[in-house]
Amino acid sequence: MCINFAKMTPSFLDTPIEYLKGIGPQRAELLQKELFIFTYKDLLTHYPFRYVDRTQFHSVREVIEDSAYYQLRGHIIEIDFIGDKRTKRLVAKFRDSSGVIELVWFQGAKWMAEKLKSNTEYIVYGKATSFMGRFNMAHPEINVVTPELLASQSSFQSVYNSTEKLKFRNLDSDGIRKCMRLLSVQLNEHHISETLTKTVILDFNLLSKLEALRQIHFPDSKELLERAKFRLKFEELFYVQLRLLRSNLVRHQITQGFVFSKVGEVFNDFYNHHLPFQLTNAQKRVVKEIRIDMGSGKQMSRLVQGDVGSGKTLVALLSMLLAIDNGFQSCLMAPTEILAKQHFETISELVKPLGIQVALLTGSSKTKARRELHAALESGTIDILIGTHALIEDVVVFKNLGLVVIDEQHRFGVAQRGKLHKKNIQPPHVLIMTATPIPRTLAMTLYGDLDTSVIDELPPGRKPITTMHFMESQRLRLIGFIKQEIALGRQVYIVYPLIQESEKMDYQNLERGYDALLHDFQPPHYQISIVHGKLTSQQKEFEMQRFIKRETQIMVATTVIEVGVNIPNASVMVIESAERFGLSQLHQLRGRVGRGADKSYCILMTSYKLGADSKLRMETMVRTNDGFEISEVDLKLRGPGDLDGTQQSGVMDLKIADLAQDGQILSLARSSAQAILNEDPNLSGQENQLLISQLHAQGKTRSSWSKIG
Ligand code: ADP
Ligand code: MG
Repeated sequence: MCINFAKMTPSFLDTPIEYLKGIGPQRAELLQKELFIFTYKDLLTHYPFRYVDRTQFHSVREVIEDSAYYQLRGHIIEIDFIGDKRTKRLVAKFRDSSGVIELVWFQGAKWMAEKLKSNTEYIVYGKATSFMGRFNMAHPEINVVTPELLASQSSFQSVYNSTEKLKFRNLDSDGIRKCMRLLSVQLNEHHISETLTKTVILDFNLLSKLEALRQIHFPDSKELLERAKFRLKFEELFYVQLRLLRSNLVRHQITQGFVFSKVGEVFNDFYNHHLPFQLTNAQKRVVKEIRIDMGSGKQMSRLVQGDVGSGKTLVALLSMLLAIDNGFQSCLMAPTEILAKQHFETISELVKPLGIQVALLTGSSKTKARRELHAALESGTIDILIGTHALIEDVVVFKNLGLVVIDEQHRFGVAQRGKLHKKNIQPPHVLIMTATPIPRTLAMTLYGDLDTSVIDELPPGRKPITTMHFMESQRLRLIGFIKQEIALGRQVYIVYPLIQESEKMDYQNLERGYDALLHDFQPPHYQISIVHGKLTSQQKEFEMQRFIKRETQIMVATTVIEVGVNIPNASVMVIESAERFGLSQLHQLRGRVGRGADKSYCILMTSYKLGADSKLRMETMVRTNDGFEISEVDLKLRGPGDLDGTQQSGVMDLKIADLAQDGQILSLARSSAQAILNEDPNLSGQENQLLISQLHAQGKTRSSWSKIG
């Protein structure tokens, strides 16, 4: 008989999970619902989230850490039902030679009570919880000690995610591992074909796919486990990068762009006679990168990253002047009306001597003004249009749009960007500017198909802000310090957190803080502004103006001042309950000072009791002013899922790689993918057919990565 293994290859892994021994239709349905496990393949890629050493035992007396896992060996000496109908639970006293610990079951208590026997030695494994000074273990794993059991205990036992519902049907981590074992012994090279090319495998000394899958679930040694992890993470990141780099290549090859061939009168006039200050080297470099892009005949899609205050606006303006020199219009899109207005004012002022036309379009533009503006755009009398989302409405028609600048890219949906592409016969060049620094690893994945520039230098004369972390006991010192700065003629922000869930409490804090301040900073000598979300816009404006005109020395506020205020005389930023802010928010807030010539300070006030994460956040802020470094720490603390812009990006589809931890593997995977494309841009070589078919297969199951860019 002739068996065609090639044909069998896909079918085995695609086998519905219900056919695995012991699963059956009901548990299969639950696995689908709870963990999205439909097939053998889905089960195999349900990777362990950690490993435990099950060859080691603790004694009951060694159980000392809350929430830690322990494996114990001993006997049940007593069982008892405790509690009323609602709280009824089974409590079993478990003893070894060192002491006694209580094991508790809330669910399945009756069944467990029947199962437990005296005079039998058990192995117990579970999480210790401290309760009223004593430890217990709720719902531990418990098994009778047998030679087979002892022999099967591994020093790297895999632990799997499960759910309450699955646990009920014996599919807790242990149950899942048993299924995995059943599946894994059936695996052979006919079922698991290789998914990376020989060259890549040799280059990086990778385990085969089959071996990696076996070892990730049932490691034979620490070394093999590490290699299995590496192989699987590498592969995952490799294909992400290959896909992104390839679409970048295709864009460069296929998408024609307008050629901005000359640097002309408008640009030169501005550059030589009207620049308000010398460009930083970083600004010069980025402008040059943009100029080369736009002159190349390819369509530019470039991301400019630069910390708060690094001077992105000017880079955008210079790019737009280049467009004008080449007979094109540009537009600049901002996420909020306030920011759009700010840009409009700044840019109008800067280009006044040039005789070019700049217009503003926002949601609140009046109908009549709008109509006139539309006509002017269509006839080409407007050179630069600045605005919000209103820019991309279909009624807005340009005569000849050549460049689109998007400020603060995160808040723009991809669909909106796509719309801009259709605003001319050929897609205009696109420049995306972001102020929230993104860690390199994340940028590579989120924007791997964009070209990137970094403005990694602040304009000269900015003094680094000194950041200090004070506890409550140092409040007197804080007050003294504020008085000292005010005596020097400076102004001070004091910011309180405002977090939706506990808004009422937050306002109480704010008000209490304000009252306390009034006590320390008494009028008429001191004047205090207060701004928060409960005030009307007029009240807010009034308070702001008092501060701007220096009638008040202190501005007490909730985070409403986060966006858009620019008051160079303010030199101290005090952040109350700083532990309640995220790192990027702290960094943005700190960016409000240090704008004038004076030495500036940021003071983080916290309570004594700080968790490890909060401590690290404070230490990071004190240590560095570098937004990129801060974003790296932020990524490590929060994981990519919580950072702006990642939710819809597909980053969360990663099954094993972790962008916060695996930056190095990512870099390797990216350069490997790049090297392959350099040599064989169309992946037409014999060996690379495998890569094509893998990309293709993954493209079907994954949500589209092209959503970004
Ligand atoms: P961001 O990158 O945050 O958008 P802006 O473009 O608003 O920064 O610039 C911040 C401030 O720095 C502005 O007041 C701007 O005029 C000033 N600035 C920009 N470039 C320079 C430079 N090369 N030298 C001095 N000041 C500059
Ligand atoms: Mg800006």
